[in-house]
Amino acid sequence: MSENKPKQENLPRVGFYICHCGSNISGMIDVAEVQKYVAGLPGVAVSRDYKYMCSDPGQEMIAKDIKEHKLERLVVAACSPNLHEETFRKAAARGGLNPFYFQMVNIREHAAWVHTDKKAATEKAKDLVRAAVARVRFHQALEKKRVPVDPNVLVVGGGIAGIHAALTLANAGKKVTLVERDATIGGHMAMFDKTFPTLDCAACILTPKMSAVKAHPNITLWTYSEVNKVEGSVGNFKVTVKRKPRYVKEDLCVGCMECIDACVFKTPTFPDKFNQGLGKRKPVYIDFPQATPKVVLVDPQTCIQLKTGKCKKTCAEACDRNAFDFDQKEELKEIQVGAIVLATGFKTYDAKRDHQYGYGRYPGVYTALEIERLVNASGPTSGEIVLRDGKHPRAVGIVHCVGSRDEKTNKWCSRVCCMYSLKLAHLIKEHSGAEVYNFYIDMRAPGKAYEEFYDKLLGEGVHFIRGRVAEITDWAMTPDEEGRLVMRVEDTLAGFVRRIPVDMVVLSTGLEPQADAQEVRRRFNIGCGTEGFFQERHPKLAPVNTFTDGIYIAGACQAPRDIPDTVAQAGAAAAEALALIDAGFVELEPNTSHVIEDECCGCKSCVPLCPYTAITFDEAKKKAVINEVLCKGCGVCAAACPSGSIRQNLFEDDEIFSEIKGVLTK
Ligand code: SF4
Ligand code: SF4
Repeated sequence: MSENKPKQENLPRVGFYICHCGSNISGMIDVAEVQKYVAGLPGVAVSRDYKYMCSDPGQEMIAKDIKEHKLERLVVAACSPNLHEETFRKAAARGGLNPFYFQMVNIREHAAWVHTDKKAATEKAKDLVRAAVARVRFHQALEKKRVPVDPNVLVVGGGIAGIHAALTLANAGKKVTLVERDATIGGHMAMFDKTFPTLDCAACILTPKMSAVKAHPNITLWTYSEVNKVEGSVGNFKVTVKRKPRYVKEDLCVGCMECIDACVFKTPTFPDKFNQGLGKRKPVYIDFPQATPKVVLVDPQTCIQLKTGKCKKTCAEACDRNAFDFDQKEELKEIQVGAIVLATGFKTYDAKRDHQYGYGRYPGVYTALEIERLVNASGPTSGEIVLRDGKHPRAVGIVHCVGSRDEKTNKWCSRVCCMYSLKLAHLIKEHSGAEVYNFYIDMRAPGKAYEEFYDKLLGEGVHFIRGRVAEITDWAMTPDEEGRLVMRVEDTLAGFVRRIPVDMVVLSTGLEPQADAQEVRRRFNIGCGTEGFFQERHPKLAPVNTFTDGIYIAGACQAPRDIPDTVAQAGAAAAEALALIDAGFVELEPNTSHVIEDECCGCKSCVPLCPYTAITFDEAKKKAVINEVLCKGCGVCAAACPSGSIRQNLFEDDEIFSEIKGVLTK
């Protein structure tokens, strides 16, 4: 530790603290050397190093020094401000110093972790710290403003994540609007037959929750709807929702399905999306018997009335509740919410991309989701495992990791395909008695009771072959292969190439971000990782928060995950939203921009540039006006203003130029 007096008159007294971060920083930076160096810089009154600055003793040391040494500015060289800027601001405040008289220097990510030469890294740390000491002198005391938080919440996505988050919030007394783009809630889970590892009936555990959503007095359920626009910021979002026409009035329809029977199409004719195209439906339909809301809808692509205006409309005639409205139009509704939970889910990998497996070419090749519908009692075959030609398979091959853990497609593990492959192997064997082969690379069973489930399957006579299937072909080499599919695989345990004839192939496809994830990300102004899944603020410490305050993520929109993890995360997202709402207010970062009215020439250059629509133009005064509640401090306007009349708190010219000079001047 070094203490001294400021070496120049009138300089504010700076306290400097450098953290070892265990060996994270001290392993590559000579912390003692930097500490001694800074002690000699003009204005530095205290210079100390400590093993973990962010710990309680570290923070207490800072607070105590501020009081005892009458410190007027604070510089901490440690890790990322993302992680601990707030920690040290609070320490400054505890010492009686305005928290914005503080500057943090990230010598961990910017020096220790990115260099291999200790001497050079130490020199760089000195440069960065010198710049911060020069800059912090020009800091001004700022105050965080408080704005009230709207107590209502929006949940986007009606899969199990959205359902659980909405119910948690509603049970806590909050008004929730749940927006789902499909005609029913339930998401992928509603398509499943059983869930691993307990083999619970998916519908039995899901549909009571779906009904609870519909019946909950605090939940407004908008299915067949999409979020169109999001304005505002934490605590005060204005959201525009597009409600698509069902051509049936939701409040009148009771789901008796008389209209479906009465439709002029006597037989179901069109591919049924919910059943993965394995079944057929009419132009008026309902996805599945337990759909929520239980309201039919009319498909404008196939309904004669909607296409030509010339149908007998037998469906409408059969409806004694007069629920049909062929003139229904898209509606835009606006809601005000304080917090948003995004639970927009995933899409499954398109198995056609792996040509070698013949999906779409061989009728005997299915995706796992198709098999989920086939084994489902309410599916297109009432649970019977039959091939497209109506025959029963004698042997079934299940290929794990299709579109997962593959450099050519998706590098990531789907986290669920091992387990759902085991589940399907069990169900196929149970329903059909067929021989079942699982082709796997590694078996990943890390959840509670998952390994036991694997053991159970091993005891059921299911075959396991370790090796990535190279090809599926209908080219027969032996009489047993005639008219069947042959799976060619290198058995990496036995050490030779095998050809296994089967009648049905199940491709266990991986999980991907939704096709429109980028669009949704932009609409909600959140980030995403390189794979396209939504980005959490911190993988360990803030796994459901995003970089946009007030917007939380839950479920497989963040990364592939199974149902238990999804539900746990949805509960966490709901809890974060509750904490925000129950606080009643949010404090805004004061790093916002402001217009110096006298200098603004009214050119309006800044208005269209602001990505947060925080700038308007006062026509009477002919000046730009910045709404500090909406301003996120990105600095675009300050950089673009041709007259230099926009200034930004914490990024004033003095601060920036002294930092630059500080880094350049040894
Ligand atoms: S639209 Fe009418 S006939 Fe059709 S399900 Fe609803 S209530 Fe029944
Ligand atoms: S700094 Fe300027 S451009 Fe950026 S959010 Fe604030 S007002 Fe908009």
